[in-house]
Amino acid sequence: MRRIFLAAITIGLLAAATLLSAQTERKITKLTDGVYEIQHAQGGGGNTTVIIGDRQVLVVDTGFLPSAAREDIAQIRQWTNQPVSFILNTHFHNDHNLGNRVYMDAFPAVTVIAQVETKKEMDRFGPGSLMREEKDSYGIRQTVKKMLDSGKTDDGKVLTEDDKKQLKDLLARQAVMIEELKGLKFQSATLTFEHGFSVDLGNREVQLKFLGRGNTPGDAVAYLPKEKILVAGDLVDLPLPNVLDGYPSEWTHTLQRLADLDANTIVPGHGPILHDKSYIYLLRDLLQSAVDQVNEKLRQTAPAMFMTLDDVKSSVDLTPFRQRFAGNDQDLAANFDEVAARLIKLVFDEARLR
Ligand SMILES: [Zn+2]
Repeated sequence: MRRIFLAAITIGLLAAATLLSAQTERKITKLTDGVYEIQHAQGGGGNTTVIIGDRQVLVVDTGFLPSAAREDIAQIRQWTNQPVSFILNTHFHNDHNLGNRVYMDAFPAVTVIAQVETKKEMDRFGPGSLMREEKDSYGIRQTVKKMLDSGKTDDGKVLTEDDKKQLKDLLARQAVMIEELKGLKFQSATLTFEHGFSVDLGNREVQLKFLGRGNTPGDAVAYLPKEKILVAGDLVDLPLPNVLDGYPSEWTHTLQRLADLDANTIVPGHGPILHDKSYIYLLRDLLQSAVDQVNEKLRQTAPAMFMTLDDVKSSVDLTPFRQRFAGNDQDLAANFDEVAARLIKLVFDEARLR
């Protein structure tokens, strides 16, 4: 099913990250006293991390659907009487910041923090979010309807009853999403930083850092040095990286800096919590392999500006990584192949800019 799903969503760029989440149920994990991670149900957006100090609360990423943000706020109020004083948006993709406005309505004094490049992108893309989501959703719905009418995927695979049910669920979720986003006002960042700073929430220090470009031009992470907790945003996504855009040749170094931080709990932008760094190294190695192979091909032939993607992609083999990401999961293996193809395109596009 995931394969059809992915084919359906390649139409929608920023919506894709939201929908890619394999998580279907909302799930809360206590990381330590006063620090919680919320994995949203499908469509709710990327992970939210709630960091509670003696005086103040900092929330990392506010999700996608306003209803999910409202549910999170109700949950936070059960955990603490302290106000949410700070939000960190790890990057500009709207599955991590459309909830900002809901928080600001609930906590009018809240400061919304982002790396300076992220604020620029939020200002550029945020206000048009609804229009873009409507357009993407329309495309997704048309594709799904076509599949349901013909009973086949666009590459000819016959839909099972389970596939059909999931596609119908997707249609229903899309309709709910568009209805929910109507009337939403976009709230951009109100405080920016370049390299990083530290905030004391009351017996709880949180360091906000920009470690270099990766998934976007302004990826920020939150790090709790005492608790050894790291909130990584979409620099680290499970079960596969989000490579619709980004800077792969710099991303590898950023992941190394991330791994250099002393942490034993790592919250990814999407997916379950990590308890060691092996997945970060795996991601780094995948990106590095794509970068090395594309560059080697260009070194042997001609600069990227004289080449096409087709000239290059047959020389790049990322299949050794398939098993390491997907194990024996066939659907995930098929998704890996699509992600690998997109990654090669992204690396080539990056090389063309040099
Ligand atoms: Zn995301």
